[in-house]
Amino acid sequence: MTVRKHSGLSFKCTERGKSMKITDLIEKLAVSHSLSLDEYEFLIENRCDEAINAAAEKAVCIRKGIYGNAVYVRGLIEISNICKNDCKYCGIRKSNTDCDRYRLTRDEIIECAETGYSLGFRTFVLQGGEDGYFSDDLLCDIIGAIKSKYPDCAITLSVGERSYDSYKRLYDAGADRYLLRHETADREHYRLLHPDDMSYDNRMRCLNDLREIGYQVGCGFMVGSPYQTNRMIAKDLKFIEAFKPDMCGIGPFVPHKNTPFGDMAQGTAELTCYLLSIIRLIHPSVLLPATTALGTIHPQGRELGIRSGANVVMPNLSPVLVRKKYELYDNKICTGEESAQCRDCLETRMRSIGYEIVTDRGDIKRDAAYDAKTSLKGEVINKNGCL
Ligand code: SF4
Repeated sequence: MTVRKHSGLSFKCTERGKSMKITDLIEKLAVSHSLSLDEYEFLIENRCDEAINAAAEKAVCIRKGIYGNAVYVRGLIEISNICKNDCKYCGIRKSNTDCDRYRLTRDEIIECAETGYSLGFRTFVLQGGEDGYFSDDLLCDIIGAIKSKYPDCAITLSVGERSYDSYKRLYDAGADRYLLRHETADREHYRLLHPDDMSYDNRMRCLNDLREIGYQVGCGFMVGSPYQTNRMIAKDLKFIEAFKPDMCGIGPFVPHKNTPFGDMAQGTAELTCYLLSIIRLIHPSVLLPATTALGTIHPQGRELGIRSGANVVMPNLSPVLVRKKYELYDNKICTGEESAQCRDCLETRMRSIGYEIVTDRGDIKRDAAYDAKTSLKGEVINKNGCL
């Protein structure tokens, strides 16, 4: 049995022929950045230690060629846990009457950014439920205040589905990036995860609007979400291949007790890490976080994520008093520490595996080899010596 080097978890290679085919597919993916739907499904279905190690090694090599040993940090400010939606997997869904609701004030949000700036953060992520209180006027005011104080910083928004005009106003006010997980690229799966008043089409409309307006756009999905099949994950990978997001947030599904999925099994660190590697091979320069959810289900989850090809971590800058209340899933980590402790903890964790948290906006680096390959469909340039 091969012991996996990167995830610390074991996954036996059973059939020699299959494992050879998988490593061939990984090789092909690293060169062409594209596979068929059937090939992606095969990669997932038949994964084993040998394949997982091969994917991680290539992913890390490619990422190091573009980003070196730098890990970008984003200061997460959870501005509100009030939401008009009822996504079936989410702990702050409107039907959860046990949720202790809060909103940060404008001044509290700006104070979080001030603390973050002094700790070396140059990106602030304003994340919240779809809370109508945060009108375009209010968000534009907050964005403008942070930008005028810290023009060297990037602002990322993660406040859900809005209209084109709303996204445009927020962008014009200074927002640089927008995170909106697509959740699943399978229409039927989307329906099973969401209430009837939400739609796959509107989610895709939002992502396309954000791209058209000029944001750096992030999509993503949960690994091991209820009803998810390997075919559905293959569709997610095809979607990522086509959409070419600037950021891609994937983390394991972790159930929340007060949701319809409270008794469902959680996703695994093993598959999440493998998919991080595959996504790095699809899109070499993508900004890929090792998520808090990954750290929640495995004590070294974020380190494993980085060693599988991720290059971003997102320490919490929210006031400690509200952190526990922003509970998207059960047992979320990092809810008791001060912002400085969170940053120091992650810095120590990253150093322990040979990486360095940097003071930098952390924008996506366009990779000439990849861009040439995907736009001209020509020969890939083996710039990093990883292929
Ligand atoms: S996932 Fe987002 S939109 Fe859905 S209920 Fe949770 S906070 Fe609201």
